[in-house]
Formats: sequence, C-alpha cells, structure tokens
Amino acid sequence: MPKRLIIAIDGPAGAGKSTVARALAGRLGLTYIDSGATYRAVALKAVESGVSPDDPAAVIELVNRSKVGFVAKDGDWHVTLDGCDVTGLIRTPEVTQAAAWVSRVPEVRQKLIALQREVAREAGVVMEGRDIGTVVFPDAPLKIFLEADPSERARRRLDQEQAGGRRAGLSATADEIRQRDRLDAERKVSPLVPAADAVRIDSTDLSAEEVLERILSLAADRGLIRERGTL
Ligand code: C5P
Repeated sequence: MPKRLIIAIDGPAGAGKSTVARALAGRLGLTYIDSGATYRAVALKAVESGVSPDDPAAVIELVNRSKVGFVAKDGDWHVTLDGCDVTGLIRTPEVTQAAAWVSRVPEVRQKLIALQREVAREAGVVMEGRDIGTVVFPDAPLKIFLEADPSERARRRLDQEQAGGRRAGLSATADEIRQRDRLDAERKVSPLVPAADAVRIDSTDLSAEEVLERILSLAADRGLIRERGTL
C-alpha cells in the first residue's frame, strides 16, 4: 500500500467534483485539495489590480509578483494570496470568469502546479481540478473523470450560487458553464481531457453518495484501501 495515496478527480464545472472529492477525502482520512482555488486566487488579484485576465503578458507580470499558498484552517486547506486567506473572496462570478482566462497562461500553470505538488508532498490527498490526472499527478493510482449532462451541471451550479446568496438565472449559469468548458477544453496547455487511464463516471443520474461508493469500490478493487472506506 503506498504511503501517500493520491486520488485525482478531474472534470468540467458543475460535475460534482468538489462534493465527491471532499467526501472521499473525509472517508479515507486524506487531505482534500481544490486546485481550482489557486487559479481563482490569481484571478482575484487580476480583478483587484485592474489587470485584464485575457492579457497574457500582464498576467505573467502579475503572477511573478504574487504569492499563492495554502494554509490549514478548521480541518480544511484554505488558499492564500500574498499571505492573506482569500478563500471567501474567490467564488464571485467575476473571479470565476477571470480564472478561466488566467489558467490559459503557461507561466501561471507552471507556478501553481508546483504549489499543488508541494502541498501533496507530506500527506495523501484527494485533489480535484482539470489536469490532475494528466499533468499534476500523472502517476496517481486512481484517476476519476467526473462528467454530467450540461443541463444538469448548470442546475447544480445554480443551486450552489443560490445557496451562496447570489442571484443567478439558469440560462446565464448555463452560458457561463458553456464558455468555461470551451476555454478549458480548447486551451493549448493542460486542456480539459480525461487521462488515458482515468475512469469516467457520468454523475447525471447518480447521487453524490452513489458516486462516492463507486470510487471506493474502484479503490478497493485496486488494493489501494483495505476495505471500502478505510485506508
Ligand atoms: O474548479 P474551479 O471551477 O474552481 O476552477 C476555476 C478555473 O480554474 C477553471 O475554470 C479552470 O479554468 C481553472 N482550473 C484549471 N486547472 C485546474 C483547476 C482549475 O485550469 N486543475
């Protein structure tokens, strides 16, 4: 059994990655890491500094003078920007939109991938993102590519937005997801594609608990966990 189990959960926006990755980490006693939060932190800085997120040269200059990190807080990992915990500031629609642009810049990815690898050096992790199985941890022994129908993903994202107190409509949310999917799938570096050895799970008609059970079965079948639910 590896000392440091890494489980990669990739997929498009709204496929249920966060819910499942967090629950999986909780069940297995692993650390849950949201790699998207690091791109969002850079995007936040761009928004706050008035830097256009679709101007690569300005974004490179910005990332070179920024310090993104993680800090353990309340049993979770919070993302920091220049030493401040910005976890509560990175979910606005503006930052979401900007994140899809700054993540296209290779220099940004290089820096953030180093950080994502670093945070997994000491402990086993469940890390969610777009390129965890393809680029960040190509040797991860279990890679999941979580998908769902676009309409279901838009509905789930809308529920999250409304739970967060934001006013959003279904068609605007569906448009936002479509645009982000396109940017993520079409970019030259680390495009959103399943790793060749990823297990694809379509969560459209599955509850989060059902997805979790499937992943636990896969981990048990591969001998990564002793029995369903324990390392
Ligand atoms: O996962 P989340 O929606 O928070 O990610 C925000 C943005 O960060 C995504 O739209 C994507 O462009 C980028 N991202 C990425 N690679 C990752 C995680 C997120 O490019 N591993």
